[in-house]
Amino acid sequence: MSNSIRARAHAKVNLHLGVGPLRNDGYHDLVSVFQSLSLSSIVEITPAGTPSASLVAGLRADAPGVPEDASNLAWKAAEALAQRSGETLEPITIALHKGIPVAGGMAGGSADAAATLKALNATLQRPLSQNVLLDIAAELGSDVPFTLLGETRVGTGRGEALAPLLSRGEYHWALAFAKQGLSTPEVFAKLDTMDREPHLSYEAVAQALLKADANALAAALHNDLQAAALSLRPELRKVIAMGERAGALRGIVSGSGPTCAFLCADADAAQEVAAELGVYYRTATATGPAPGATVLEGSTWSI
Ligand code: ATP
Repeated sequence: MSNSIRARAHAKVNLHLGVGPLRNDGYHDLVSVFQSLSLSSIVEITPAGTPSASLVAGLRADAPGVPEDASNLAWKAAEALAQRSGETLEPITIALHKGIPVAGGMAGGSADAAATLKALNATLQRPLSQNVLLDIAAELGSDVPFTLLGETRVGTGRGEALAPLLSRGEYHWALAFAKQGLSTPEVFAKLDTMDREPHLSYEAVAQALLKADANALAAALHNDLQAAALSLRPELRKVIAMGERAGALRGIVSGSGPTCAFLCADADAAQEVAAELGVYYRTATATGPAPGATVLEGSTWSI
């Protein structure tokens, strides 16, 4: 039997992303409605079995563009958890099985961090509570707490202060991934040069979710970062138009992009949109909401 702990965490889409003005500390106040999607990555933690100067003896990812050193969010998550636990841990190796596109505006790195927290926590003699994991998650990055919890939630502050949002029904998405990622800081920097009115109210999204009304949700979807992402990547306009022509209720840029997310009436419509866009782009279908980061059954750990 293999000796490893595996945990899964899901991608997110922003049903609403309102971005307040630039604050003095360089951050923006965000009002974000997150929905987690069935698209997921798996983090696998294995005892390194060899001496190592650091807790993480090695990290491997099965997708290009992912750093395999201490700058990886999963690596940082492991170190932060070990430090907070106060326990002396044996060296580990981390393998990232990436099902979430890199730099796609779908919280791929954050999901890896959340799954790492869950997996490594399961190896502790005295596992930390979910509240402590949320604290560590907030220090790692603003999307990490949401990927830890999943479902549908409103995030305020930098996006890390979360409250659950009542949501009924299942929603069907088609996703179109660009070959080259977009840097989140670059998209925010572009936004700061633009003349705009922040759109912070998510009332219409909340009403649609309460009624399980995909048409109303489509009309209510909003992303303040979209204009900046479109300005940096004008071809995304074509992607959105093409997806809507193929039958999506509505297409939006996901978070900071460049992934475009298309809300569809049902699973068949989502397949159709993904197939038509699939001629030009890498695509996937997904449903939401999905659960938070969880340790997978069958994991074993002995050192
Ligand atoms: P978000 O939606 O939270 O803004 P994203 O999904 O757009 O994030 P990520 O996939 O998290 O973007 O990657 C953004 C950058 O972070 C990458 O280009 C990479 O350099 C770095 N990075 C650090 N850790 C990871 C990780 N575990 N997986 C992918 N990228 C990572």
